Amino acid sequence: MGIALTTCNEARYWSNKTLAITNRSRVSCAHNTSSACIGLITHALLLCYSAAEYCASVWSGSAHTSQVDVQLNSAMRLISGTLRSTLLPWLPVFSNIELLALRRKAATDKLVEKIVKHDSWPIQPDILGTPLPRLTSRKPFWPDLQPVDIKGRWRHNWKSAQVVNSHLLCDRTIWQPGFDLPQQQWFLLNHFRTEQGHSGAWRRKRRLTDTDLCPCGEIQTMSHIVESCPRTKLNGSLSRLHSANEDAVSRLNSYGS
Ligand SMILES: [Zn+2]
Repeated sequence: MGIALTTCNEARYWSNKTLAITNRSRVSCAHNTSSACIGLITHALLLCYSAAEYCASVWSGSAHTSQVDVQLNSAMRLISGTLRSTLLPWLPVFSNIELLALRRKAATDKLVEKIVKHDSWPIQPDILGTPLPRLTSRKPFWPDLQPVDIKGRWRHNWKSAQVVNSHLLCDRTIWQPGFDLPQQQWFLLNHFRTEQGHSGAWRRKRRLTDTDLCPCGEIQTMSHIVESCPRTKLNGSLSRLHSANEDAVSRLNSYGS
């Protein structure tokens, strides 16, 4: 099959390879100020994901997949401009890339479908005969050959994740409003959606400043800035900002000035 992610060192190799490609994408996109999202997603899918998901159907059950996932999460943070403190379920939503485990399962389903169609392939009896795993450390894909509905499973996982401000999204499997904005506005919009941005409370928690107070005297969080601060609040609050309409874009452009 070419590759089996059976040892920690192999996982580290693919993890480092993905990291190197992600960093190259970060450098090449650092000065991109327009239509950031599409360009970054194209970079990620072509460079990072193609390397990180090589023969994924074979090693998808490995205990070391999390090392590769860390680097792919980093690529999704690059696309969305979100901070490290952002909850992981947000990352595929902003990138409009399915959950990593589900993508690997989809690759496995595709491979199984091919095997089932070709009676002459020597591998068919091994897969359909479902041999019992001989080692508990091995997790082959053949015990679970049922194909999954990726979009449906993604929606279910999102519902059970209980993410802050999840009510904003009518469908997390489609492009979110504002994905075609320039990079700075797109990143800022996502900071407000996830409530993880450079507010006073966020900076104080990381000891970057001595105070978490807004100039109005209240504790400054991302939701305070857009929903209750008398100096900066937006009529219609976060839902209006999320829609990325003309007023919202205007507010994003003037934020901080
Ligand atoms: Zn305030």
